Amino acid sequence: MELLDEMYDPTRADVRIEFALARAEFEHREANRATAAQWAAIADILGDARRSPEVFVDPQLEMPWSQRIEFAQRAAVADIAVRLAISETTVRVQAHDAETLRTRLPRLWSAFCEGEVSAVHARTAAELVRSLPDEPESAVQFDDALAGIVHLAPGRFRQRARVLRERIHSVSLIERAQAARETRAVWIDNDVDGMADLTLRLPAEVAHQAFARLDAGARSAANDASETRTLAQIRADAAGALLTRAELAEGGLPAAGAPVGVLVPVMTLLGHGDEPGILDGYGPIDAQTARRLAAHAPSFTRLLTHPVSGTLLDIDRTSYRPPADLKRWLGIVDQTCTFPGCCRLARNSDLDHTVDRQFGGPTSAANLSHLCRHHHRLKHMTRWSVASERVAPGRRRLDWTTPTGHRREGDPPPF
Ligand SMILES: [Zn+2]
Repeated sequence: MELLDEMYDPTRADVRIEFALARAEFEHREANRATAAQWAAIADILGDARRSPEVFVDPQLEMPWSQRIEFAQRAAVADIAVRLAISETTVRVQAHDAETLRTRLPRLWSAFCEGEVSAVHARTAAELVRSLPDEPESAVQFDDALAGIVHLAPGRFRQRARVLRERIHSVSLIERAQAARETRAVWIDNDVDGMADLTLRLPAEVAHQAFARLDAGARSAANDASETRTLAQIRADAAGALLTRAELAEGGLPAAGAPVGVLVPVMTLLGHGDEPGILDGYGPIDAQTARRLAAHAPSFTRLLTHPVSGTLLDIDRTSYRPPADLKRWLGIVDQTCTFPGCCRLARNSDLDHTVDRQFGGPTSAANLSHLCRHHHRLKHMTRWSVASERVAPGRRRLDWTTPTGHRREGDPPPF
């Protein structure tokens, strides 16, 4: 330490930088080490949940052993996610990656635990080794080959690792391409300011063909002197128009656009105010767009509110099935599954009685909330529990308790 103190001369920039570099390097290794330890801990919890499901699922509850393990595992994943405020997907990915690395790439795993390899490298390696056939020889070969390239930056590391994987892979590209096609999908990511991203995962030739078509159309439109949009904007407009056009009644698309709810405050609709509307599954949209949708778009379910009052909805209903107006109201209030952190849309979720009907729970706004199928089952089949408290007319607060006794207030309503 004394020697270091002697060497450290704070008046010299080069010395300050040298010391800061050493600190950055040290902290980077520490962070890598800590991440590896976190992944290992999560994998250990899930391993224990599989071996001792009674911690998460009441043994009195009758179900086959395999189902008991499955539910214990799910409850544990949700427990970790809520405590760490990370998504359940992240928990699963970290556990899966730790398992993969420990069993198939032990050399890389130990470098990760020592802090010599970053989480990005570790994740890339885990993903790639999983895409190799499950043969011990190819994993050993891959592990050895990776040792020579872990010093590369993540982008270059991925590139080289893919080449190494290609050399080691024993299955032909034709077979692999067939399997990869099974991962076709479409998903949506909400962004701010009234925008969202729609992503398509397609076989490369279809994706390029589709893009080339949009691009050619956009370039020819851009030749028009009166055109003010950029190429990117024209492509986006054309793709959006194509996918929402009514006459596309084939390939699994409904004839008219599927109904999407839009809530418009009456004053906004009448043009007396600019209070934002709410697009179901997205959130606030500007008053102008809300008015346009409410007036001209037949495929949007219109809901008018003013003032927002749920008093009527709170009346205890004798029927078990929630009436349509209550359902619609709760869809707008919840927007998503009400389990902490879950983003699955309310319109694809179940409406759950927080206190079961058989225990006197009413069919009212205060006792109903959306739960996706996954979390609905978690609530009924595992030691996860929830209590609800009415905080305003038509509004309630949920309090969740994890199987290991950690309490967590439900997420606040999105708006
Ligand atoms: Zn959920």
